[in-house]
Amino acid sequence: MPSRYAAQLRQTRPLRTRPEALTKRARHPMQLPDVSLPDRRTVLKMAIGLGALAALGTPGATAQPVATRARIIIAGAGAAGLAIANRLSQRLQGATITLIDARRAHYYQPGFTLVAAGLKQPSYAISGTHEYVPRNAQIIESSVAEFDPDANAVTTSTGQRLEYDYLIVATGLTLDYEAIEGMSRELIGTEGIGSVYAGPQEAAATYRSMSDFADVGGVGLFGRPETEMKCAGAPLKYAFITEDTLSRRGNRGKAELVYTAHNASLFGVPIVSEKVRMLFEDRGIDTRYNHVMTAIDPGRRIATFRTPEGSEQIGYDFINVIPPMRAPQAVRQSALAWQSGPLAADGWVEVDPVTLRHVRYNNIFAVGDIAGVQKGKTAASVKWQVPVAVDHIIADLAGTESDSAYNGYTSCPLITRIGRAMLVEFDYNNNLVPSFPGLIPPLEELWSSWMIKETALRPTYLAMLRGQA
Ligand SMILES: Cc1cc2nc3c(=O)[nH]c(=O)nc-3n(C[C@H](O)[C@H](O)[C@H](O)COP(=O)(O)OP(=O)(O)OC[C@H]3O[C@@H](n4cnc5c(N)ncnc54)[C@H](O)[C@@H]3O)c2cc1C
Repeated sequence: MPSRYAAQLRQTRPLRTRPEALTKRARHPMQLPDVSLPDRRTVLKMAIGLGALAALGTPGATAQPVATRARIIIAGAGAAGLAIANRLSQRLQGATITLIDARRAHYYQPGFTLVAAGLKQPSYAISGTHEYVPRNAQIIESSVAEFDPDANAVTTSTGQRLEYDYLIVATGLTLDYEAIEGMSRELIGTEGIGSVYAGPQEAAATYRSMSDFADVGGVGLFGRPETEMKCAGAPLKYAFITEDTLSRRGNRGKAELVYTAHNASLFGVPIVSEKVRMLFEDRGIDTRYNHVMTAIDPGRRIATFRTPEGSEQIGYDFINVIPPMRAPQAVRQSALAWQSGPLAADGWVEVDPVTLRHVRYNNIFAVGDIAGVQKGKTAASVKWQVPVAVDHIIADLAGTESDSAYNGYTSCPLITRIGRAMLVEFDYNNNLVPSFPGLIPPLEELWSSWMIKETALRPTYLAMLRGQA
């Protein structure tokens, strides 16, 4: 239903004409169709420069390192764990910094969408964790099996017990495919099933399933889980990408696209939700609200949903399954998790939303997807969370105080078709907080926003891991 935002949004510039070159079919997975817009080179330079600026915007570590013998454990060496390890190692002298993570590969997850669009190979999203571990830190290749915050200790899955003065929880989240009856990771790439989230290879398998669908048409089914999730724009992006792929192949008329929303909106920020609703309407993507996927029958290609009216089945030819997301079991079962309230059921870490410090354990912080805060499950959020947690730890160690604050900054270049995106940035209060007001309007489908996603995001993300952004 149109909301009070509709009138405001109609004033944003529509994407006037579809550039001729963009309608051409782009079959080579690595080939982006030529976009013959004026000043292409200028826009490209601007996009890269601005994207880099956005990611480099935080103040660098210029102060003298603080001397300390503190033992700091970082559980999880993904985006947040590596970024905080590097920042701490730059600002501390003499500390023992230990990362714990069993996974050797590092996944640049924002790249999964581009892999699943057929524009990048899986290798684009894969590197090695060791490349980013600072020289004065060590990594234990195991996972944390038990958190014992009352004893200031963790135990790894190999039984090693480690004590700490500070603990940073950066374990990211778990994809709970098994919570959907009949679903498993192994099904991705078979029976018309895709899932952009599971990993680089699964993203490539998702492209193959989607591409087969785009050749013949049928029913394409999209949606999101009812739990908190990382990059809540990604399910929407893939609906748009599929619609665009069908159009380029001249098969849009052969397909019905359905997006199932878990509640009564399409996105947590109302004005963005309304913009997406308008775009879906424009592109003929049918929306079903209050649909939560509970089961899948791959053989019959039927998905089952819980709705306020009862159980409903929808047949599909292609489906992008996005599973429920929760805290990893070790965190969920620990005293670190929220004990009550909306974030308790899935075990997110109970931190202060502004400082990211644990509410009950003063020497524990959580950053990245695992942090139990209302927004902030994106890599862009990590960039703003990490310096805040670091400032508070450094202040503790230096015997001072920090007023460093995280405002919930979350960002998502929301792809609306290949070659176009909206650079949506917002805070805890659902305010849009564009990095480049006037230059890159957040609710317009822009090629420059696409270039930030396609070209600038990865190098700035990698710089963030190294503590340089
Ligand atoms: C399809 C997709 C598209 C996305 N698009 C964007 C985008 O456009 N822009 C954006 O900003 N963000 C995007 N994101 C989100 C972004 O990738 C995540 O928010 C970010 O990676 C979070 O970092 P993290 O360190 O919290 O988690 P991760 O990077 O997932 O790292 C968590 C690490 O913890 C480890 N771990 C887990 N359990 C344990 C344990 N018990 N002990 C020790 N280690 C453990 C894991 O092995 C992993 O290495 C996207 C994500 C996906 C999946």
